[in-house]
Amino acid sequence: MSGSPAPGALVLIATPIGNLGDLSSRAAEELATASLICCEDTRRTGRLLAHLGLTGRRLRRVDDHTEAAEVDDVAARIGAGQRVALVSDAGTPGISDPGARLVAGVIAAGHPVTVVPGPVAAVAALVASGAVTDRFVFEGFLPREGRERRRRLAEIATESRTVVLYESPKRIGSMLEALIEVCGGDRRATIAREITKLHEEFVRGSLAELSDWAATPPKGEIVVVIEGAPAMPDATDEVIVAALTTELAGGASRRDATAAVAEMLGVGHRRTYELAIGIPGSVTPPS
Ligand code: SAM
Repeated sequence: MSGSPAPGALVLIATPIGNLGDLSSRAAEELATASLICCEDTRRTGRLLAHLGLTGRRLRRVDDHTEAAEVDDVAARIGAGQRVALVSDAGTPGISDPGARLVAGVIAAGHPVTVVPGPVAAVAALVASGAVTDRFVFEGFLPREGRERRRRLAEIATESRTVVLYESPKRIGSMLEALIEVCGGDRRATIAREITKLHEEFVRGSLAELSDWAATPPKGEIVVVIEGAPAMPDATDEVIVAALTTELAGGASRRDATAAVAEMLGVGHRRTYELAIGIPGSVTPPS
């Protein structure tokens, strides 16, 4: 930077998701000049700074547990004209990483927020997958179990846009099985593994083929890109029953569950109600 000093702001800085060569010169410059660097893990960010030849930088841990408590101090520093950098362990802060609450708090306090864009695993996987990129949905990590997981799987089954998900290698096998249950085994998808790293790999195929591939548990970091459902999908009975079961398990009556699922999946009320009748324990309250 040249000329007058940069004004006070929260500066969101994307960092590499594997290859250190992906750190931009603007990111390096902001890290070199920030008054304070907020990061998820001081040791990890310390290693990145050492790679850049930066020592003695002031680091502060800001993670899911501490983020809300840091808002006031960070806002005060920015108000006093300081530039406060925010990085996560890898990629873009706020994307399946801490950051969003700090950003919202700084904006609410009336201070500027700016960004040094760069790597995001989801976008890197999407563009290399070969799937349609003009409209897509980022689902992040699915909940590991429960009603919300079932609801989101049901939504993915009928989503016509490309869907991008994060998953750990430990759970990729069970995630693919769950996706096959709702989307069918023929839906096309890509597993993007270790993007920008030595063992980078893009495995493209049907969900059934990818599930076979994952039978030998893969190592490393993974993004799953699923091609969208046909524009006007016919939800299968299995998908409708799964969605109904989720609604009923949440305490909805048979009538309310039918209305919610028919609306959500764009399917006929009568067909949905008939399937609801077959689900043990579903009841219609007396009118
Ligand atoms: N903030 C990051 C970003 O901008 O992508 C995401 C952080 S999230 C905690 C970590 C997840 O991102 C991993 O579990 C994996 O799903 C995905 N990921 C990160 N780096 C990756 C890479 N090099 N290759 C594939 N997936 C990656």
